Amino acid sequence: MAESEERNNGEPHQQTTEWHVLGPVSVREQLEARAPLSAEEAQNRLTQYGPNALPEARAKGPWARLGRQLRNFLIYVLAMAAVITASLGHWVDAGVIMAVVVLQTLVGFIQEGKAEQALSAIRHMLAPKARVVRADGQHQIDAAGLVPGDTVLLEPGDRVPADLRLEKSHNLKIDEAILTGESEAVDKSTEAVTSDAALGDQAGMAFSGTMVATGTGRGIVVRTGADTEIGRISGLLAQTTTLKTPLLEQMDKFARILSIIVIVAGIAIFFGGLWFSGLPFRELFMAVVGLTVAAIPEGLPAILTITLAIGVRQMARRKAVVRRMPVIETLGAVSVICSDKTGTLTRNEMMVTRAVLSGARLEVTGEGYDFDGAVNGDSGQLAESPQLGELARAAALCNDAHVHHDSGRVRINGDPMEAALSVFARKAGFDVESGATHWPRKDEIPFDTQNRFMATLNHDHHGHSVIYLKGAPERILEMCASEVAESGETTALNRAFWDQVITEMASEGLRVLALARKPAEQGFTELAIEDLEEGAELLGLVGLLDPPRQEAIRAIADCHDAGIRVKMITGDHGVTAGAIARKLGLKNTKRVLTGKELDHLDDDQLRDLVGDVDVFARTSPEHKLRLVKALQALHGVVAMTGDGVNDAPALKRADVGIAMGVKGSEAAREASSVVLLDDNFASIAAAVREGRTVYTNLKKGIAFMLPINGGESISLITALLLGLTLPISALQILWVNMVSSVVLAMTLAFEPAEPDVMKHPPRARDESLLRGFVVWRVAFVSLLFLVGIFAAWYWAMHHYGSETTARTLAVNTLVAMEMFYLFAVRYLDSASITLRGVLGTPIVLLAVAAVIALQLLFTYLPWFNRTFGSEALSLDMLAFAAGSGVALLVILELETALRKRLLRAGPG
Ligand code: ADP
Ligand code: MG
Repeated sequence: MAESEERNNGEPHQQTTEWHVLGPVSVREQLEARAPLSAEEAQNRLTQYGPNALPEARAKGPWARLGRQLRNFLIYVLAMAAVITASLGHWVDAGVIMAVVVLQTLVGFIQEGKAEQALSAIRHMLAPKARVVRADGQHQIDAAGLVPGDTVLLEPGDRVPADLRLEKSHNLKIDEAILTGESEAVDKSTEAVTSDAALGDQAGMAFSGTMVATGTGRGIVVRTGADTEIGRISGLLAQTTTLKTPLLEQMDKFARILSIIVIVAGIAIFFGGLWFSGLPFRELFMAVVGLTVAAIPEGLPAILTITLAIGVRQMARRKAVVRRMPVIETLGAVSVICSDKTGTLTRNEMMVTRAVLSGARLEVTGEGYDFDGAVNGDSGQLAESPQLGELARAAALCNDAHVHHDSGRVRINGDPMEAALSVFARKAGFDVESGATHWPRKDEIPFDTQNRFMATLNHDHHGHSVIYLKGAPERILEMCASEVAESGETTALNRAFWDQVITEMASEGLRVLALARKPAEQGFTELAIEDLEEGAELLGLVGLLDPPRQEAIRAIADCHDAGIRVKMITGDHGVTAGAIARKLGLKNTKRVLTGKELDHLDDDQLRDLVGDVDVFARTSPEHKLRLVKALQALHGVVAMTGDGVNDAPALKRADVGIAMGVKGSEAAREASSVVLLDDNFASIAAAVREGRTVYTNLKKGIAFMLPINGGESISLITALLLGLTLPISALQILWVNMVSSVVLAMTLAFEPAEPDVMKHPPRARDESLLRGFVVWRVAFVSLLFLVGIFAAWYWAMHHYGSETTARTLAVNTLVAMEMFYLFAVRYLDSASITLRGVLGTPIVLLAVAAVIALQLLFTYLPWFNRTFGSEALSLDMLAFAAGSGVALLVILELETALRKRLLRAGPG
């Protein structure tokens, strides 16, 4: 008993009140939160209750990480070899082998630590958000900052950020499967229930971690962090991200199979050797150890992991956060990007520039969200006009956004388009501040992408009620039979006039919105969509300017160069969409496919059209899923953006689902594999570029490491089979693999993109890396290494007649060839002997310098000579080693040129 109190550290435990039994008002009273909390009070409560977060499952500590390094096949082999050599009394050999074990463990340990760091940084970038109402208005904050007593707003696609007692609920349905296992979303209300109600029946509560399926709501935070229902069940936040991709798994499997073959072959060689060759036991044993070390590419997984980790970090820097690791590879293969328009391709900094009333066309002046500006008719600024006044009132009241100017800076809460409407209402002379108090809102139908309109029910203090509507013009016009004329009277709707005005404004790229009103009876308090089918009176149209992002225009051009087709998918009007698409430089802006047309196409017809159409307008989220499927059927690797709940299926289905980090819902984020931190199309293009770079670097890492193992092992096998002395001893192979190769290969992870990454078409979706060119390169270079090693051996034997010297030269020749090969690998498909290629990056030069220094120690330091059986070399021998390296580079350069010529000559 005393123990559990101590555990609490004297912090007040959040009371275990049965909130579901109380009404919202008494909940507020009990939490001392009659009004939204002030920032100061929230801060105080935060220190009192602690952050609203589940404690993270402890990051696997350094010991666990160390343990993982030791569960490694090569380590077992080496440890066993060390024990056997030690038991034979070869203390130096045993010592060197143990040192290598330690080194290998250490390198793996450090690399994995780096990778973990990169991942945990990303986890923090994806922290969940919450919309909270505080004394100074609505804010989007990290959910961790919520405190009991806070007021939280809920929208479809939100994950409920804390346990809430609902005080407002509009068609709210919440999916509570995570808590109750019940897969159907449950209806929520503000009702209190009895004390013994099960979780699933507590209609007045919204529980942390559950997902809003439809509707909107508002609730008071009653429990946070570990005190929430979900916190009580799970207690900990699972961390499951790992650096695994298909390619890495393929390599792991390859390494495992290779290891088994090598071990079997080693044992066979050992006993066969004992039997037939009569070589002494020790020599044979060391030869087999050498062969094992030579053949198993143990350094490779570590190199690949770090390459991925660096890619992930690089993408995060470019504002694209990877949620699922395999997507890094897919990103490089993307052939179609389907992007939302508003906010991604355009800036979503809207401004009303036009308004049209029955009988008057108006220009709106001003700059962005500045309040300065006027609404001008043909003959200058408009005087008091009841018609314009009513349009402005609708724009201000059927609106959830707030615009503040503090110390010269604009702050917008809510939708940028609604903010623009609120600024417009001001310019038209409507007092936005007092408007909301004179005309309080009774009920609303929130905007959703399916309905494409929003409605509010307002009433004044004399009991007059009116419904204001705003939305896509076709939608609103359907509901109207009349329009408000200049005099303020209503007359019959002149549909032809309005249709013409809509096309006119839309063809300039303006987003057109219609505003209307509908008189309501006095006692009317609840809005339903069915009540709005008819009887509305059109107030007018407004045209909003939303300029394209400059960087999106550039990024689209880059994508086209890279053979990637960019398609725009929008809920906006077809004509507006077409006009914006032209400004953005999309390929085909002539043909715009609308959601309605899409509905009339079957899957085959859609597949025939979809490749060539780039603009999709008046679409709903379910169209996105059909588009993804159709594009995939054309063998495209499809990236698709999305932000709402309804986008989730398309995001999941796409090869690369990209969610908007700023305006996106939690549901969209969870369905996607990449989250954009800035909602910007340019970041998608940057991520694709990064994806291509990472994939090439993985390929380079493999193409670099494998021939070294290959060259060494065929050299040893050749020597063993022909009964020759080994040209390189086991300990020397350990030295080369664990020291020089690792240092050199590591630099490939940091290789910047080749200049033409975005100049060639994407690779095929199913291109296998271990086929074709890479396999050829690995085999070819392995042979070159073999030739180099034996050439060095025979040349030295011939001139100096000492095995020690010959081996030292063979090692140095191998390392020199590796160094030059590194330069060849850095430009797999283009010439390497260029100024840029030779200058290299600082990290490459550093690595080369380090390896040269290490080789000098190996060759000239007596202690190394004794340990590794090496010997000082004369200058002509060093020249031989360097010359072999140059020769390798020249041969590969010729091979590249030849290959290019063959390729250009065309297949066959
Ligand atoms: P987009 O793909 O450009 O983001 P949306 O799906 O958000 O398009 O919007 C589709 C249409 O719905 C818009 O062209 C506009 O006519 C209407 N609309 C958008 N936002 C609102 C809103 N807050 N209130 C009323 N209507 C809206
Ligand atoms: Mg939108």
